[in-house]
Amino acid sequence: MKIICIGRNYTEHIKELENEKPTDPVIFLKPDTSILLKKQPFFIPDFSDDVHYEVEVLVKINKIGKHIDKKFAHKYYDEIGLGIDFTARDLQDRLKAKGLPWEKAKAFDGAAVVGNWLPVSNFKDVNAIVFSLKKNETVVQSGNTSHMLWKIDELIEYISKYFTLKIGDIIFTGTPAGVGKVVANDKLKGFIENNELFSITVK
Ligand code: ZN
Repeated sequence: MKIICIGRNYTEHIKELENEKPTDPVIFLKPDTSILLKKQPFFIPDFSDDVHYEVEVLVKINKIGKHIDKKFAHKYYDEIGLGIDFTARDLQDRLKAKGLPWEKAKAFDGAAVVGNWLPVSNFKDVNAIVFSLKKNETVVQSGNTSHMLWKIDELIEYISKYFTLKIGDIIFTGTPAGVGKVVANDKLKGFIENNELFSITVK
């Protein structure tokens, strides 16, 4: 399986990183080895002094597809989740400045937190999902999928022009504002509405 991540999908987050608003979705991949194993702590890697959390709504693909039209995209997923796109921001900034790919900053071991899944049928509208991240019991990020520049079905259409989607692939749909640094002993908990979908400790 593969993980397809979307960058710069919420206006407020684009502003906080002083990025330009893209004309097309920004896409990058993470390998399956980046998934943080269940019940394991997240270890801050020794190559970064500035690892950030980015809470994101996840979509799990349940059918193989290529060139999927957005009208049919809803048939390609039936579970929604929540995760963290951990980012070594210092390393990413150095790579971005040189125009180099971001993988070392985003695709390292443990950099993808994948929480529990909820059936799509739980939601009245996947374009109005309220989600949040608590760090040490304080809400640090909160979002609503209605604020995405590209909605879930539009992302599936766009991604599948380039990459065949396969069963089990996961889409990280981008982070809202409020990203920040983690330090040892932080506890991160992710919520969709009132459902806690992950709880991890930073080491
Ligand atoms: Zn992200």
